[in-house]
Amino acid sequence: MSERAYLDWNATAPLRPEALVAMLAALEEAGNPSSVHAEGRAARRLVEQARGQVAAAVGARADDVVFTAGGTEANALALTPGWQLSGRTAERLIVSAVEHPSVLAGGRFPAERMSTAPVNAHGVIDLDALKARLAAGGPALVSLMLANNETGAVQPVPEAARIVHEAGGILHVDAVQALGRMPIDARALGADLLTISAHKIGGPKGNGALIVTEPALRWPVPLIRGGGQERNRRAGTENVAGIAGFGAAAEAAAYNLPIETKHMSALRSELEAGLIAIDGTMIFSQQVPRLPNTTLFALKGIRAETAVIAFDLEGVAVSSGAACSSGKVQASHVLAAMAIQPEIAVGAIRVSLGPTTKKADINRCIEAWKKLANVLRKAK
Ligand code: PLP
Repeated sequence: MSERAYLDWNATAPLRPEALVAMLAALEEAGNPSSVHAEGRAARRLVEQARGQVAAAVGARADDVVFTAGGTEANALALTPGWQLSGRTAERLIVSAVEHPSVLAGGRFPAERMSTAPVNAHGVIDLDALKARLAAGGPALVSLMLANNETGAVQPVPEAARIVHEAGGILHVDAVQALGRMPIDARALGADLLTISAHKIGGPKGNGALIVTEPALRWPVPLIRGGGQERNRRAGTENVAGIAGFGAAAEAAAYNLPIETKHMSALRSELEAGLIAIDGTMIFSQQVPRLPNTTLFALKGIRAETAVIAFDLEGVAVSSGAACSSGKVQASHVLAAMAIQPEIAVGAIRVSLGPTTKKADINRCIEAWKKLANVLRKAK
């Protein structure tokens, strides 16, 4: 039993073979995609092929895609004051309370022009509260994630989009965790702006994209200025190999989505059945639609930092649902927003599966959890 069980796919996914092949080939290209000569054109072809692949994975057009150096940068690019639609300018930002830290940071919005929309006990946005926030000021940019990185809870994005648009606002959707784990059609969702990241779907780390689906949107000043790359929306010579890997991963993830989600969902059910067989184990957001690969759970008395190490010693890679800063583990902002008691929230453990997860990995995880719970029982 020396092979490890990697169950932390929401942190990052192993590289897909298709992405590796595409990246190795792209690394052989000498040209700069902005150059007009043959070498440059060959590199440009790779970038544009990937643009089409990435666009197709989210039901967008190639022209909608702006490549960035990851999801964090795409979020920062989206969260910029000054997006204009039909003559209205979004000068304030509303985010849900369970967003990723790269959204909660607010991009380039000053803190006084930001507000938060609460979620219910299952981590789902309160749409009435969103409506009230929108009514309480001028046109807003709203940022709502498609699926949460800790609980996997899927947000009612189409309903939120209707509310945002009726109020004259603009909707940004962070779909980083949703890509490759549920079907995404950016337009059907009603997302004006949509963030995705390569490394959660088996592409390279440090590559992402902002998808701008609304052609009538007028751009504010981009985050990174300089050369005219990405049609003046994101300066800097393109990471050609990374983009090629992103494109290949996006195509493979989209093609395999039905079979991969079925596989993950079946294994997750087995995992959860095994976990809750241990008295006192609770699973978060289980009552609402979730990604098929994510389980966040806790058992009162077990602390996440100890549990993650114990799992690791058993050969199982999982993560804590808590934030660790300066050696002190704090309950995650997501569980705090769901009003979970802090003494339970500090023990939250996230297990996230992927397309190559095996039944043996699940069994190993359950055995490790049983062992931990036994230690706790004996200590009582
Ligand atoms: N948004 C969500 C929901 C995420 O889970 C992550 C990464 O964990 C990000 C954004 C940031 O993406 P990246 O790691 O590509 O910067």
